[in-house]
Amino acid sequence: MSSLSQRFIQDRFSDYYKQNSALILPPTSIEKREFGFLIFEKRMMLRHRGFREVDGLRSSLSTIVPSDVYYSSAYYESPEEEMKAKGWLGADLIFDIDADHISTPCATLHDLWVCNSCGASGKGGHSQKCPACGGGKFKEKTWPCEVCLEAAKAEAIKLIDVLTDDFGFSTEMLTVAFSGHRGYHVHVESEKIHGLDSIARKEIVDYVMGIGLEAEFHGVGKSVSPERMFSGPDLNARGWRGRVARGTYDFLLTASTEELEKAGLRKGIAKKLVLNREALLESWKENGPWGGFKGLGLETWKKIAQYGVEKQSVKIDTVVTPDINRLIRLSNTLHGKTGLKKLEFSITDLEDFDPLRSAVAFKEGEVTVNVSEAPQFRVEDRIYGPFERQRVELPTAAALMLLCKGVAKVVQ
Ligand SMILES: [Zn+2]
Ligand SMILES: [Zn+2]
Repeated sequence: MSSLSQRFIQDRFSDYYKQNSALILPPTSIEKREFGFLIFEKRMMLRHRGFREVDGLRSSLSTIVPSDVYYSSAYYESPEEEMKAKGWLGADLIFDIDADHISTPCATLHDLWVCNSCGASGKGGHSQKCPACGGGKFKEKTWPCEVCLEAAKAEAIKLIDVLTDDFGFSTEMLTVAFSGHRGYHVHVESEKIHGLDSIARKEIVDYVMGIGLEAEFHGVGKSVSPERMFSGPDLNARGWRGRVARGTYDFLLTASTEELEKAGLRKGIAKKLVLNREALLESWKENGPWGGFKGLGLETWKKIAQYGVEKQSVKIDTVVTPDINRLIRLSNTLHGKTGLKKLEFSITDLEDFDPLRSAVAFKEGEVTVNVSEAPQFRVEDRIYGPFERQRVELPTAAALMLLCKGVAKVVQ
């Protein structure tokens, strides 16, 4: 990246931390948290920082001007010591939802790879070797696209449902935040979960994702009633039983003949099911469709229910939650890949939350940039691009999105 572009990004980040230091709020028990700053110049992490109060943190941000700011999910006796000597006291329970872990149809349209050795680039996933130079190392550039962000939000909604309904966490214990890039973070802060070790947290991951869950142990099986061959869980049942039912309902509501065939239905039966979809879903008001459809055996119902499990499974980053020493982005700090803020908001606003409006940190100024390649994107109300080898004048926030991604350069 040209030093002019680098300078521009750092100057804007510097403005932000000088003008908005009051927005930087201390996490609970700030004196027990470790802080980490990713440094622009060297792409190096300054770790093991600690602060007694928020003022020290605020002034560090405006002098260091990091590209990314993190704090520990854990509480330590001595957060500034090296890992072994910190004295772990407990940790919040954290969940990271990132569009990278959700398969969206648009990834091939907006994701780019760039060859580390020759700079060749292309869309979607890259092959093993660079087609231009044969090199094997690539930078991947993902994009905070609207479709991906909506997909991540849908996962956050599912997650909060599981955490409140199945685990019984009150909404006061939960915070939800936009990550500043392609996802959402959900935190649980409560004495009840502080002491959980990594294995216990992994169990929670498995539950939330429905890993190893088999529908036949959740009510899908032979019926005891003489009128029906099979039975299955009720839509309103608690826990995963209800989720299996609701996921199956959703699957049957939208599945195409091809998808049903993939689930193991013979073509004729799949077609018949699609034709009779409404009646089948209607039957759910009584006692569900289980066994209420000629030609579908128990094994097929189990497979269909497994698709239901898949629909209800929450796609979280499986590495983050079990890590009891994780550093996580601090709210109201800037994301080095976008220039957007990580932003906490009320759970009741989740459905309507618009990250590309609410998380915009820069509202003033314009700058002319040379864009190499960028997909279409939105910032606030305006749509930009797609761009290919173009010089454009853009508002600061839109320009930063491209500059931080390394697909544009500031024009002298
Ligand atoms: Zn190459
Ligand atoms: Zn997308």
